[in-house]
Amino acid sequence: MKEDTVSTILKNAGLKVTPHRVAIYEYLHKYHKPISINQLYHKMESTGMDKVTVYRVIASLKDAFLVKQIDLGEDQAYYEIVDEHDHHHVVCQKCRTIVDFTGCGIDTVITKALEQTHFAKITHHSFELFGLCKKCVQ
Ligand SMILES: [Zn+2]
Ligand SMILES: [Zn+2]
Ligand SMILES: [Zn+2]
Repeated sequence: MKEDTVSTILKNAGLKVTPHRVAIYEYLHKYHKPISINQLYHKMESTGMDKVTVYRVIASLKDAFLVKQIDLGEDQAYYEIVDEHDHHHVVCQKCRTIVDFTGCGIDTVITKALEQTHFAKITHHSFELFGLCKKCVQ
């Protein structure tokens, strides 16, 4: 992803373009899997970024809806880039393998939610599935 492209994405989201934001956005875009602050910090260590900076950058990207927080049932939160392809994760509770899946049928759920509540619009959704992979079930 070109640096210009990242700058445009950040500006369109109302964020100031800073080298740290560009570096983290680029990394998350390339990585394209859920990552924890700790893991991300280790990847960014060579750039001289400290953990507080990584945390702040992630918080700003999350507020701007460029990154979403993912709950994988651990004490620590995970973060992943937001893109146009809606997907969720299935997590093995034993070996912690994470696999993507698509087709969550959110349209049906949104229709139900709007029928049952006084909400005018649903803008985001988030959930993950947990279970046992075929290897771990044996
Ligand atoms: Zn994912
Ligand atoms: Zn497993
Ligand atoms: Zn979905």
